[in-house]
Amino acid sequence: MEVIVLGSGPASMFCALALVEAGAHVCMIDPGEVLEKDRQDVLHTVQGVPKARWTSDVFRMVKENTNPNTKGVPKKLVYGSDFPFRWREDDVEVRQEGVDTLMSHALGGLSNAWGANIFPLLPGDIAEWPISMSALDPFYRRVCEYLTLAGVEDDLAEIFPLHATPKGLPVSEQARLLLEDARANRSELRRNKMFIGRSRLAVRAQECVACGLCLYGCPHQLIFSASHLLPRLLTYPNFSYRSGWLAKRISEGHDGVSVEIRSVSDGAQETCRAEKVYVGCGAVNSTALALRSFHPPGTSAHLLDSQYFLTPFLRMRCSSGVLDEELHTLSQLALEILDPALCDRSVHVLFYTYNDMYTRALTGMLGPLAGVAKPFLKAFLGRLLIMQGYLHSDYSGQVRVQLDTASQGHEQLLLTPVENERTKTMVRAIHRRMRRMCRTFRGLPIDPMCHIGGVGKSYHLGGSMPMSLAPQGLQTDLLGRPIGLKSVHIVDASIFPSIPATNVTFTAMANAYRIGKETVG
Ligand SMILES: Cc1cc2nc3c(=O)[nH]c(=O)nc-3n(C[C@H](O)[C@H](O)[C@H](O)COP(=O)(O)OP(=O)(O)OC[C@H]3O[C@@H](n4cnc5c(N)ncnc54)[C@H](O)[C@@H]3O)c2cc1C
Ligand code: SF4
Repeated sequence: MEVIVLGSGPASMFCALALVEAGAHVCMIDPGEVLEKDRQDVLHTVQGVPKARWTSDVFRMVKENTNPNTKGVPKKLVYGSDFPFRWREDDVEVRQEGVDTLMSHALGGLSNAWGANIFPLLPGDIAEWPISMSALDPFYRRVCEYLTLAGVEDDLAEIFPLHATPKGLPVSEQARLLLEDARANRSELRRNKMFIGRSRLAVRAQECVACGLCLYGCPHQLIFSASHLLPRLLTYPNFSYRSGWLAKRISEGHDGVSVEIRSVSDGAQETCRAEKVYVGCGAVNSTALALRSFHPPGTSAHLLDSQYFLTPFLRMRCSSGVLDEELHTLSQLALEILDPALCDRSVHVLFYTYNDMYTRALTGMLGPLAGVAKPFLKAFLGRLLIMQGYLHSDYSGQVRVQLDTASQGHEQLLLTPVENERTKTMVRAIHRRMRRMCRTFRGLPIDPMCHIGGVGKSYHLGGSMPMSLAPQGLQTDLLGRPIGLKSVHIVDASIFPSIPATNVTFTAMANAYRIGKETVG
């Protein structure tokens, strides 16, 4: 069977793996933006080289152009580059009005820049889905055969099954102390239906040299990116990768599917044909492609979000050596709140311990006073953690997606927010709960400094074409097929019926693999 897979992000890559393993002939089509050659050359200098011998060029290049402030990082970059987010569809102008999200035209998609948190769904968050946890379970396991799960078997294993034997990343001192305090109060946590443990991350833990650069880009490329799967796919004789092309329109006829594609370099157009097409262009791009291909002009779609909030969390116990500690700077701990008295959906909170962006943001805020404040700053940073909480889509806004004709041959992709009045109320309630439990955590959220990310900013979008047993309108069937189509499958988070507070990508990879597996062979 000849099939086309659109995109090379996590969803497309795992779908393609299932397809090639089943013997299908897969052509992956993708714009394929990659890191600039000069930056790749700097990265090559550290491969196999101990951290102590990395040159200053490496640190300079990795941190270049990243300017954190007290609200976070205004523009997320990787190795100082914006390549994961560069827009290559020249005939489409993107207008985000009150929405702040990112789309990718890169090899590996947004996983070049992600935080690598991989928790599966919780049963309470999948209750209304037309597929069950047991249907997804084998595919979570399959995904774990292609990436390394960093984590440990701890209290979180009571609610999240472990789909592989995890390898532990070094835990930071601040995280160790918080865990120690929380576990000493385990019965209080249980009364509040809270579970805390080490984060689960897609990172090759055993090779980590604790250089602390994770949020800028790992020099050893240990943080999983879907682009890492391309060499493996290329070992299959029945797989080919066509980089530099974008899908513009899909149509299905009696003899298969046609995909009109456009070159990102010179705008040349071609039509490709296959028996089936799998669409994993990322939630916004897949939605736009489906609107253009399958629905009357003027149809709009709504993407669900899982909005986040960032709140400084001040601990009573100080870790004195944080500024010099060798550590990783991805999320260290995860707290799951499953108390229906607080929220009928799970609340997912990640704890980030020290990273040098805190020092940079605070010294930037203090300006000339930073020198005088240095001794206090050290004591403050030793107590400071950042809580990044995520809400279920029932408590988050939505992004309205609309395609308009701008001028002859040009389109406008308009993204506008639909706010959810429950978002702020829920964030306040979570803070109240954490304040009430300050003895348990031996720390307090500084909620006046809380920043709620705007609609779309979590980058955990999906749900515009939800799977349903009886699809209507923009909905799809259990294999991601829009109504009336037999051979076009949407495989990314656009087909999720809801967006859980726990991260989306692990489930997107597992579900895409499931669809690949269940549609061939
Ligand atoms: C800063 C940041 C942190 C994140 N942290 C986490 C986290 O910790 N955990 C988590 O679960 N998720 C996280 N995410 C979200 C995660 O990255 C995405 O959920 C995931 O990458 C989505 O995978 P995808 O395959 O659906 O799409 P993408 O990763 O968006 O990939 C889309 C692919 O489609 C291709 N494409 C686009 N348009 C077309 C077209 N017209 N034709 C052909 N190909 C096309 C692109 O080139 C790309 O290869 C984060 C995202 C960001 C930006
Ligand atoms: S600390 Fe982060 S950036 Fe450094 S080697 Fe480990 S994973 Fe990579």
